[in-house]
Amino acid sequence: MQNHELRPETKRFLERQHGHFIGGAWLAEGEERIEVFNPATGSVIATTAAGGQADIDKVVAAARQAFAKPDWAGMSPSVRGKLLWRIADLIEQNGAQLAELEFLNNGKARDIIAQRDVPAAADVFRYFAGWATKIYGKTASLSRPTLHAYTLKEPLGVAGLIIPWNFPLLMAAWKLAPALAAGCSCILKPAEETPLTALRLVELVLEAGIPPGVVNLVTGYGHVVGAALAAHDGVDKVAFTGSTEVGKLIVRAAAGNLKKLSLELGGKSPTIILPDADLAAAKAAAAGSIFFNAGQVCAAGSRLFVHRSIFEDVVDAVAQRAKTIRVGAGDEPETEMGPLISKKHLERVDGYVQSGIGQGAEVLAGGSRLDRDGYFFKPTVLAGTAPHMSVVREEIFGPVLVSDSFDDLDEVAANANSSIYGLSASIWTQNVKAAHSLARKLQAGSILVNAGGGLDPNLPFGGYKQSGWGREFGEDGLELYLQTKSVVIGG
Ligand code: NAP
Ligand code: MG
Repeated sequence: MQNHELRPETKRFLERQHGHFIGGAWLAEGEERIEVFNPATGSVIATTAAGGQADIDKVVAAARQAFAKPDWAGMSPSVRGKLLWRIADLIEQNGAQLAELEFLNNGKARDIIAQRDVPAAADVFRYFAGWATKIYGKTASLSRPTLHAYTLKEPLGVAGLIIPWNFPLLMAAWKLAPALAAGCSCILKPAEETPLTALRLVELVLEAGIPPGVVNLVTGYGHVVGAALAAHDGVDKVAFTGSTEVGKLIVRAAAGNLKKLSLELGGKSPTIILPDADLAAAKAAAAGSIFFNAGQVCAAGSRLFVHRSIFEDVVDAVAQRAKTIRVGAGDEPETEMGPLISKKHLERVDGYVQSGIGQGAEVLAGGSRLDRDGYFFKPTVLAGTAPHMSVVREEIFGPVLVSDSFDDLDEVAANANSSIYGLSASIWTQNVKAAHSLARKLQAGSILVNAGGGLDPNLPFGGYKQSGWGREFGEDGLELYLQTKSVVIGG
């Protein structure tokens, strides 16, 4: 898409000198710049500031100040809830521009963003708007009855929010909404690849009436500003979504002041299909789970386990579906799957697939890049893989499915659990007993039975094992930004 076809407000936004949003004002002068690409074309669409330690010191000071100020610390829960609701309204009112920025910067289909990502971002703010007025402590009966004791729930303080590029607007909403409902002040660090919707969102947050300094944003490289945020003594908490590898770096960096951490990390989630499943639904879901968002989904069903008696039928059908998925730019008619986020990521995904093929994997669909500009990879289905291969063990974060067969529940549970990850697992069966049995055996934070999707702001989401610490969404998600104080009053 050429810039002249863009909405005027999008065009103006792209042309701005983007930088850090600190204390309610933009700071962008005299900085090293980072180019922001359109992954469907490989062209530069904007630039943003590459922040450094001095910017982090400045933003932490602003967030600390805002956290303590009466207009935020003393704000009534009901007003706080109203402001969160207003952010949701502003996301919807600016939905067309947000969708356009997201499709330009992330590459996914514009319609999918408008129909799913934008409303889902608004929903998360509305959900946590409701929680703002429902935070309360408890009274405790102590063994010495003369004492009166109760607990208070208090905000953790300054929260650093470090997010990835796969759902840039949604990830920002997932972090900001509970942090604000809890009364924290925030420093958002979007992925270097996809800062645009986050840059627009923080303006909408200010427009909604959240006091300046409560929500700040710093752009820059993860190993510079992300690392500085994770290490800063003035930051009380870091909420991170991204790779397990970087999650571990954040754990080490956070040790200095023992800041609280919540981590949503990688996955290698199994889809398990039993012989009595509704096969049409199971086949469609198996394909949807790995090819949605070009497989750049932490909970993507990237390992397919099919009962031996139906293995060929199911895997052939998924491969057929892979071959018919319309891959293209986000504004091309009927695009079902967009590009990968960057050239670097395309090379990484291709590298995994070629290594699998080199080790003997059979390609049932895809297996290579698309012959066009931009960072496109074909929906890929592999069979004949072995447990030691990196395509089976490691998170590829692309449209690549590995498949295997099984004979009984214990075998498939053991194979599905044979992973450092444990984010999600899908089971397809009409047999209630088998479903309950597998749901207990599988080591994953989310189990889906005969269901695709399953994300809801009212349902905790997060990982077992190296898929993370803590749960986003629901009351658990709010708790990530609160701490408990016990108060004892003598009689
Ligand atoms: P990533 O490299 O881990 O980056 C995530 C964020 O961390 C980015 O903002 C990145 O900044 C920043 N970062 C990089 N190095 C850092 C450091 N040393 N200290 C602090 N922050 C640092 O992950 P990604 O490639 O962007 O995203 C893909 C990964 O995210 C996948 O592994 C996927 O499974 C995971 N993910 C998990 C979930 C979930 O909910 N569990 C959701 C989505 C994605 P830069 O971009 O500037 O490098
Ligand atoms: Mg990165």
